[in-house]
Amino acid sequence: MKISLIDYDKTRMPNLALMKISAWHKAKGDDVDFYEPLFSNPNIIYGSKVFLFTKFTIPNTTAEIIFGGTGFTLNKCIDEMTKVDKCSFGLRAKLADDMEHICPDYELYPNIDYSMGFITRGCVRNCDFCIVPKKEGEIRFNAHINEFQRHKKVVLLDNNILACKEGINELEAISKTDTKIDINQGLDSRLIDKKTAKLISELKFIDNIKTACDSDKQFNALKIAVENLGSFGVKPYRILVLTLVKSEKDIPRILEIDKLGVKPFAMGYIDYTKKSDCRTQIVKDICRWVNHKAIFNTCKDFSKYIGRKTK
Ligand code: SF4
Repeated sequence: MKISLIDYDKTRMPNLALMKISAWHKAKGDDVDFYEPLFSNPNIIYGSKVFLFTKFTIPNTTAEIIFGGTGFTLNKCIDEMTKVDKCSFGLRAKLADDMEHICPDYELYPNIDYSMGFITRGCVRNCDFCIVPKKEGEIRFNAHINEFQRHKKVVLLDNNILACKEGINELEAISKTDTKIDINQGLDSRLIDKKTAKLISELKFIDNIKTACDSDKQFNALKIAVENLGSFGVKPYRILVLTLVKSEKDIPRILEIDKLGVKPFAMGYIDYTKKSDCRTQIVKDICRWVNHKAIFNTCKDFSKYIGRKTK
């Protein structure tokens, strides 16, 4: 059987679901490629997108088509798809268990030099701007790292690994190996107490230690987390703080975060129910100002940031 894949988002991040689908089909002896309308002749096409606003076209083909990923399943794109009667298609909100628990096909993205996966799924919190609780539900253990680790470097996509006992156990085991990790969705600063701070200090990170501070209410927890990490030798400059930006009202919080000696990283608010990227120009300007370190380190006054498009 011939299988073709479409990664509609085309971000720098490889599409994990497509890598698992590829591995599952290859294990059955199927041929897998990325869909090329002129060259592919698939029996089944899998199309995936994470973001609602990612544009997509439905392949003009008689192949079976299966769409999946948050960008398809959490919205009304389905309305658009139902207008098409030329092909049959299905929607998958999540992978079947035997696909979920397979080692991803890293050959699909030959340029990556790291493994990726989820040790836990879900989250204990319910932040109103976040899709995770709706998409994944309660926190739970998902897989041991050896299910998906094939490189020395591993990117963990867990949303709140410190909220799960088995997640912490797995991090303890990882700390005793030479594996280098990135916990790329961030560690929950409210859960960085003395015990977890010690564990974090013993892990080897590929780059920054990421945490978050999305509201003024969370700032005190961040401050305590930075102090706890500091008491185990983690310098603030190693900590990247993801912080949500909805408007200019978020600037004082960004400046307070910066005063801790950590690195603020502004994330423009995206309404995941919208079909277009709804970030306002001022939000884009703030993100560019904060995230361009050479600019931010020399200009801490947004009103004087000459690169802003909103005056
Ligand atoms: S803690 Fe993080 S993952 Fe959990 S709901 Fe809030 S933003 Fe989402």
